[in-house]
Amino acid sequence: MSEKFTILVVDDNANNRFTLRALLARLPDCDVVEAESGERALILTVEHDIHLVLLDVQMPGMDGFETARHLQMTERTRHIPIVFITAVFTSETFAQHGFASGAVDYLTKPLDDNLLLSRVRLYQRLHHQKQELEVRVEQLQRQEQALATACEAAEAANHAKSMFLSNMSHELRTPLNAILGFAQLMEHDPLLTEHHRRELETIHRSGHHLLALINDVLEISRIEAGRTTVHNEDFDLADALRSIEEMIRIRAEHKALEFTIERCGQLPHYVRGDAHHLRQVLLNLLGNAVKYTDHGRICLRLVPNDHGAHGMPDTEDRIRFEVIDSGPGIAPEEQQRIFQAFYQTKAGADKGEGSGLGLTISREFVRLMGGELTVHSEPGQGSVFAFSLPLPEAEAPAITAPQFRVIGLAEDQPPVRVLVAEDNADNRELITMLLRDLGVEVRGVENGRQAIEIFQAWQPHFIWMDMRMPVLDGYEATKIIRSLPGGVGVKIAALTASAFREDQTAILAAGCDDMLVKPIDASRLYTLMGELLGLRYRYADAPASATTPQQPAAGANLADLPEALRRELLAAAEMLDTEAIHAVVERIRPERPELARAIAAWVEAYRFDAVATLCRNGDPPPVS
Ligand code: ADP
Repeated sequence: MSEKFTILVVDDNANNRFTLRALLARLPDCDVVEAESGERALILTVEHDIHLVLLDVQMPGMDGFETARHLQMTERTRHIPIVFITAVFTSETFAQHGFASGAVDYLTKPLDDNLLLSRVRLYQRLHHQKQELEVRVEQLQRQEQALATACEAAEAANHAKSMFLSNMSHELRTPLNAILGFAQLMEHDPLLTEHHRRELETIHRSGHHLLALINDVLEISRIEAGRTTVHNEDFDLADALRSIEEMIRIRAEHKALEFTIERCGQLPHYVRGDAHHLRQVLLNLLGNAVKYTDHGRICLRLVPNDHGAHGMPDTEDRIRFEVIDSGPGIAPEEQQRIFQAFYQTKAGADKGEGSGLGLTISREFVRLMGGELTVHSEPGQGSVFAFSLPLPEAEAPAITAPQFRVIGLAEDQPPVRVLVAEDNADNRELITMLLRDLGVEVRGVENGRQAIEIFQAWQPHFIWMDMRMPVLDGYEATKIIRSLPGGVGVKIAALTASAFREDQTAILAAGCDDMLVKPIDASRLYTLMGELLGLRYRYADAPASATTPQQPAAGANLADLPEALRRELLAAAEMLDTEAIHAVVERIRPERPELARAIAAWVEAYRFDAVATLCRNGDPPPVS
């Protein structure tokens, strides 16, 4: 610190002042200012930056004690150390009085020169340290301020990123909606040639891949923004595993890989947990296992009662999941990096599929659910991805009927008028066609203002409302319709490309009853509208009644199944060969998903007789 240390010497005796000044001149970097009275001393503290006061006690007019009290009262001078110097008031009582009026030191005459100088040096050092401290504090405050500004900027950037992703997801999902939706419609076209069907499959597969990428990017941004939450519910673990197994088995068989699920102990049938996130993680890990393994086997191992998992309390009912493959393995230096967003090993990038986000998302989901995803792998020896989750056993929930394909409205229902407000012509046409197929009256408009006009003139029962439209958007149109005659009763479902929660809140706040996130798939469209309007549908392969595992799907019929497949299925059923039946089921599934589910349910309930009867008669057996 280059600034000089300024000492104010206050004494009515000029000799004393002279002596002190001479003494203090021995100290480096010191300035001395003199005052002959208390009053003059106070004035000098205004004119100079004083760092130490040497104050005589006995003075005419304002004495030392009073001067000290005044210095104490002003913010500017309160912190200046005061050293009293007196020859008269030497008793302990006076010293105490001096300390009470703000002194830090009380020296009596005759003064020991060395003692005085060493005290002054001490205050000088303290002063310099205080200055350094102040500089540090100021630096820290500046850093803190810069940090706060950076934080604000980061938050603003994050918000901008979310907005960008939300907009992009809209822009990408809208055309994807048309691609996937029309591909879905065309698949039911009986005139389709085998060649075109294969091309359609490619369109479908590529579209789904693109959708998966969009969803992954959205998912990561949601995780980064801390918007991903766990949704625990009671669910059927056995059923969840079965559906995962069905999906993975097809892919594994494609590559001639052996796929097994190993249950190491008694697993609960129903558990409480986040079924959706668990399914996503397992499908991702098993999907990777299939993708990266070219020979050998893949196994999903489940270990119930996984007590004592690393650092986890022993009391929780945990299940450990291990996805084991005999693939190429992962080099030790890659094993942490593969969990980073967008990181792919060369093998991963060469596959040309995926985005390098799967493991990042999976690790975050597992953490959210209360576990930790780890990898053990040796190059050439395969890999094991493992995690353990709290999944306490739960009560069996009410069993719901499986989904069947809707082919129209059930008989005896009053006519239904549906308005489709959607600016994208392809999407509007797709939804209109899906609704006409049902047998409802449909009208389409391309903006919110037209929606209001048609609503007033035509009084539809239901409105599909795209939220982003030119002229007047879905939010405004919904609010206005709600305020018009008949506007309270009409059901309005939003069509949105945004999967963001904030948007969902705004959509419901605008007055929509519910919402569908694009791309739209026929069954979700029908289900939501059916629920809101209380509609009943006719289904392909409709069940006579709700289907339970004990009472497998009735109404399934094999009339249009190729003869060869039927014979194969009969032989498998007569041999009680579960594996062989599942193999046939998987071949039936693409064409007849409802029938595949029905047969799988029979096998699950050991109703091989029902499968056999179905094969022999072409019609379902009576339900026992
Ligand atoms: P993606 O599979 O889309 O590339 P992931 O995040 O799922 O992204 O995986 C990241 C990388 O980890 C992959 O590129 C791949 O190199 C490696 N990897 C993941 N699973 C396996 C596995 N079972 N065997 C070998 N390598 C794997």
